[in-house]
Amino acid sequence: MLRPIVKYGTASLQAPAQAVTTFDPSLHALIDDMIETMYAAPGIGLAAPQVGVPLRLCVIDLSSGARGADVIVLANPEFVEREGMQLEEEGCLSVPGFQATCPRPARVVVKGQGRDGQDVVVEGTGLFARALQHEIDHLDGRLFLDRLRSLQRDLIVRKIRKMQRQDRW
Ligand SMILES: [Zn+2]
Repeated sequence: MLRPIVKYGTASLQAPAQAVTTFDPSLHALIDDMIETMYAAPGIGLAAPQVGVPLRLCVIDLSSGARGADVIVLANPEFVEREGMQLEEEGCLSVPGFQATCPRPARVVVKGQGRDGQDVVVEGTGLFARALQHEIDHLDGRLFLDRLRSLQRDLIVRKIRKMQRQDRW
């Protein structure tokens, strides 16, 4: 089932999410909905707070469904290692229409739990490292806008506020 993706300005995007503690059929339904919603957008990552659910859960698929088997489900992800720095354009399904060059670590190692609560460790460089950092930021109530220089961030936020006033957001 597709779930609506909430946009910048929604409270669930600005609050830290809570740990996933139960890996039951309702969590599996949420995971399946998030994957479907990510592919439909289309996007390469989606965090539960983006569909209004305040849980530490995200899904990532750099192929956005093109290769099918590549989706990664991460509950309660935590950084084990973070190193280096990369600068690339980044966007967010909750901030549609805006992209900015955002600094991120070049390589990360993340541990968390999979769909059934099993321990998983993933290592990422390049775009995958960026996606992991971006989604984990969502679980901490942070958007990529918060990683930009304040001048750059303010410019985007001003444009969004104007769209909000005009009912176009
Ligand atoms: Zn995002």
